[in-house]
Amino acid sequence: MNYTRSSALFVKAEQVIPGGVNSPVRAFKAVGGIPVFVKEAKGAYLYDEDGNRLIDYINSWGPMILGHAYKPVVDAVIDKAKKGTSFGMPTEIETHIAELAVTMVPNIDKIRFVNSGTEACMSAVRLARGFTGKDKIIKFAGCYHGHSDSFLIQAGSGAVTFGAPNSPGVTQGTAKDTLLARYNDIENVKQLIDANPNEIACIILEPVAGNMGCIPPKENFLKDLRHLCDAHNILLIFDEVMTGFRLAKGGAQERFNINADIVCFGKVIGGGLPVGAFAARNEIMEHLAPLGPVYQAGTLSGNPLAMAAGLAMLREIHNDKELFNRLEEKTAYLHKGIAEVLQANNVVHTINRVGSMISVHFDKDPVVDFDSAAKGNNETFKKFFHGLLNEGVYIAPSAFETWFITDALSYEDLDETIAAVGVVAKTL
Ligand code: PMP
Repeated sequence: MNYTRSSALFVKAEQVIPGGVNSPVRAFKAVGGIPVFVKEAKGAYLYDEDGNRLIDYINSWGPMILGHAYKPVVDAVIDKAKKGTSFGMPTEIETHIAELAVTMVPNIDKIRFVNSGTEACMSAVRLARGFTGKDKIIKFAGCYHGHSDSFLIQAGSGAVTFGAPNSPGVTQGTAKDTLLARYNDIENVKQLIDANPNEIACIILEPVAGNMGCIPPKENFLKDLRHLCDAHNILLIFDEVMTGFRLAKGGAQERFNINADIVCFGKVIGGGLPVGAFAARNEIMEHLAPLGPVYQAGTLSGNPLAMAAGLAMLREIHNDKELFNRLEEKTAYLHKGIAEVLQANNVVHTINRVGSMISVHFDKDPVVDFDSAAKGNNETFKKFFHGLLNEGVYIAPSAFETWFITDALSYEDLDETIAAVGVVAKTL
């Protein structure tokens, strides 16, 4: 495929935007090469600036669960835009989407809308601290909760010591309040709780991890976390920015039948516009301003265009009784097809999948946490990525990302993808 125009556009962008992109992973640093500039997208396909058609397995990193330019969402946005794009005052549509979200998601009474997943997680942690009166949080290595300071933390020296900043600009003072645990390792979490008695406000995690590839929670991991939280007066925060309205109508809480105390949303809930949200039962949400003392605000929060897109999206998901079955079946079909062609070509691999989240790892061992994800063969992944791109299939430009399956994919698209994997597998 020819990427002449994308290359030229990237050079221009680099002059005025750091690294040519507004979010780092887009720059293809992990895989090398020139990022593809998108011109438009429809259904399961991206059309780039060079006129290439790509089957899209990223779908804006999750939101486009029904495909690109989905008509009911686009129509809702156009209709709203004609009536004014922002007021900074209450609008009825905010109540409509909140009512629907509260109906769909288990165990929440109230929801507050923000503008990104980062804001949702940052605010959820503040609320947990305000509610419990404690400062420390536990997060898991390899889980991503956005780029706010408390989350840009890596493991310090020794399993039970404080975290350390993993970006310049994050202070030691912030880092000392974030404790790092291994995903799927409940004993590690117990150690951290024992070493910091009565100090931990919350445990935040992706109930299915999607930022180190797709990693399912081990059996009982979520249940054991719930019990630990109950025993130690710690709030359990599910970051459902990826899993919310994707793994089930009610997200991971519904799929695994575990209640979290605070739930964070992003991606699907905005239908492709900038929306995040966090939600909890009344007892917790009453601590939030203006009801309570925990401050949180936003000029564009509840923006009418964003709410129109989100409401149209949630309505479609709510009304389509077969959506999650179809997504599950399509993803299982893809999983089986890819596994067969990789196996037929003797490519060492592990595939992880939960619902419509799936990832391919070039390693023979199970991928259950950050360390096992990191030991996959990155050179093979790079070849896999570029090979697929050349065949017109767009997956995330990093081995640490999950693929997001959209309902717009037809079985012909899936067959085309599996055939492309077959072509690429011969070169690995
Ligand atoms: N949480 C999770 C689980 C995410 O995957 C992401 C983004 N990929 C975020 C939070 C941050 O969301 P945003 O990029 O909208 O700030």
